[in-house]
Amino acid sequence: MANEKLSADVVIVGAGICGSLAALELARAGISVLLLDAGPRYDRAQIVENWRGMPPHNKAFYDYATPYPVVPWAPHTTFFPENNYLIVKGPDATAYKQGIIKGVGGTTWHWAASSWRYLPNDFRLKSTYGVGRDYAITYDDLEPYYYAAEVEMGVNGPNGMDIVPSAPRKNPWPMDSMPYGYGDRRFTEIVKPLGYDNTPVPQGRNSRPYDTRPQCCGNNNCMPICPIGAMYHGIYSAQKAEALGTKIIENAVVYSIETDDKNRIVAMNYYDPDKQSHRVTAKTFVIAANGIETPKLLLLAANDKNPNGIANSSDQVGRNMMDHPGIGMSFQSAEPIWAGGGSVQMSSITNFRDGPFRSEHSAIQIGYNNTAQNSRAGMKALSMGLVGKKLDEEIRRRAAHGVDIYVNHETLANPDNRLVLSKTQKDALGIPHPEVTYDVGEYVRQAAVSSREHLMTIANAMGGTEIEMTPYFTPNNHITGGTIMGNDPKDSVVDGWLRAHDHENLFLATGGAMAAAGTVNSTLTMAALALRAADAIKRDMKHA
Ligand SMILES: Cc1cc2nc3c(=O)[nH]c(=O)nc-3n(C[C@H](O)[C@H](O)[C@H](O)COP(=O)(O)OP(=O)(O)OC[C@H]3O[C@@H](n4cnc5c(N)ncnc54)[C@H](O)[C@@H]3O)c2cc1C
Ligand code: SF4
Repeated sequence: MANEKLSADVVIVGAGICGSLAALELARAGISVLLLDAGPRYDRAQIVENWRGMPPHNKAFYDYATPYPVVPWAPHTTFFPENNYLIVKGPDATAYKQGIIKGVGGTTWHWAASSWRYLPNDFRLKSTYGVGRDYAITYDDLEPYYYAAEVEMGVNGPNGMDIVPSAPRKNPWPMDSMPYGYGDRRFTEIVKPLGYDNTPVPQGRNSRPYDTRPQCCGNNNCMPICPIGAMYHGIYSAQKAEALGTKIIENAVVYSIETDDKNRIVAMNYYDPDKQSHRVTAKTFVIAANGIETPKLLLLAANDKNPNGIANSSDQVGRNMMDHPGIGMSFQSAEPIWAGGGSVQMSSITNFRDGPFRSEHSAIQIGYNNTAQNSRAGMKALSMGLVGKKLDEEIRRRAAHGVDIYVNHETLANPDNRLVLSKTQKDALGIPHPEVTYDVGEYVRQAAVSSREHLMTIANAMGGTEIEMTPYFTPNNHITGGTIMGNDPKDSVVDGWLRAHDHENLFLATGGAMAAAGTVNSTLTMAALALRAADAIKRDMKHA
């Protein structure tokens, strides 16, 4: 490594979906790219084995992080046991325990691949409903990039079906939706007379062979790992970029950023696992280290010219942290529903994604969770002290009748929901852990009253027994807001192209740029924004 030239046209920090898509787009344009990731490379077969070998308790309670080994130089969040890598404080600390993975390919290694577009009104929340913030761009500005991201990821969707409220499309989804499994089919039929439209979720998994990946066989193992690679992960785009000449350096933890007289970025420095420092230079830099690690790095890299942190003259770096606080419910339905046929998230109730009520309280997404119930059914049946035939029957009964449903809420940007560097906890390299203070706010709390009623209405319609509802808000890993976008450099960090207001040649390609959280999973929007940032870089390079 010592003799290697660590320089390229563009250095990208973070080889998750955003960094890898940007790298691929730039590599296709003949631009040289150095892609750094803090974590190692993963071997799919090993991760599958790690998951298979995990105790039933971990499987039953959705421990999707532990199969991915945590390395000391790049720790990510684990919850079994909780490693407290991400320190969370405040009234709704439970709602910000986010899952992230550090390794080439990033967190989408263990995502559910629900790949929604936001609605036009999500981009103009303030001007339409008088709450929250507007994006610096419109839905129409992002539409071509949404489609480019869908093509690259291989998103399937309900072509030919009119879903209201709609995110208008100029082109069909690259693939048609997969057929529902039995659970989603019955759920849709049962909730329809109650006035709920349960419609297909667009998904980044193959409903037919696509882009060298096989067709999804519906075995429901998507989280924590698709064993056959039918589901899209960032690793695919990273590998394609690599094949086009992008140099990927794994186990490279970026920790400092050098600026010049004009506050342009001239170099970044990273530690290898032995804490040896390496300097990388480029014309343009992109930080795509996810919604937690990007603001953390910007704060960590404060220097003489930027004493509050890089890109932070507005003091907005690390503020406005958002997600979709959730409420979950589980119960035993009167009839067998057989969750687990097909992928883990196939359908969702879209009626409450938009409307004038958003000036008062959150929009919501209600969903049926199609994760197979057998691990949890087995744990419960064992705890009942059953053995032999009775144990077998009870496991079968519970696996067939178990239902999980949820409501996710839109949050508003609130500067007090803030990420800072921990003053007390550091990782093995001496880098402070991130610390977030989080309060979901009245906007969410008001909506949650009727959310609980929706969940009870559905449970009753299904003849639910043993009903359990989470009494607190849960996280959804849709990490948005910490490097918020806007037109005014005084109250935002990046512009509509994700260019940092303070540094002409720095782009922050993460969900942090998103100015309003909407209700649905955010990654397709992050991916589209990253591709848009890559377009701006290409334009810069052409004019240079
Ligand atoms: C269990 C789970 C299920 C999910 N399901 C969905 C879903 O169905 N739909 C959806 O839209 N979203 C889902 N998400 C969220 C989705 O995974 C994230 O939004 C997405 O991965 C973010 O992409 P990213 O590229 O910004 O960050 P990441 O994928 O996290 O990648 C960032 C990369 O940056 C690297 N990095 C960090 N710091 C540094 C540093 N200092 N130096 C060098 N490299 C660094 C990390 O190692 C990492 O590889 C889910 C998340 C989880 C945890
Ligand atoms: S259902 Fe199975 S094959 Fe399909 S994406 Fe999920 S894990 Fe992969």
